[in-house]
Amino acid sequence: MLISQQAPVPWPAGAEPCPACGRPLTGAIKPGYKPKPMGGPLKPTEAIEDLQKWCVVDGPLGEGLTAGDVTTEEAVAFARHCADECANGGEHRWARMLDKAADSGDRDHVCHALAALHRRGPLHYDAIRIEDQALRQMILDISAAWPTSGNG
Ligand SMILES: [Zn+2]
Repeated sequence: MLISQQAPVPWPAGAEPCPACGRPLTGAIKPGYKPKPMGGPLKPTEAIEDLQKWCVVDGPLGEGLTAGDVTTEEAVAFARHCADECANGGEHRWARMLDKAADSGDRDHVCHALAALHRRGPLHYDAIRIEDQALRQMILDISAAWPTSGNG
């Protein structure tokens, strides 16, 4: 069982970049960040070529979706909704992580938290009703505007 979850910092500055476009990967952690054993939503050990799959633009996460506009208020409200659903499902660590991100009022932090939820969260529990497409859409809407670098 995965144990969550502090949103690793700093996000997205210093986060692992997509090898294709150079955007910080949603849910990525800072290079060199050492999560506690059993802790942390993400592992820093994935091969570089595997990282692209987590890019909402270049990977499958954004397939069939088009990036749209979202306000910070909408992003925060969505994170609260996800936190409530996790709490309802008994996943209080995830709920706290999402609430913390929402408390920050920082849409980028919210995006990383949602991406961590999508990547490793307890979304398979029937008690937690978070629609996959809505979650991916929110992640895409926020992160598509992140700056690219490198080969992008
Ligand atoms: Zn990319």
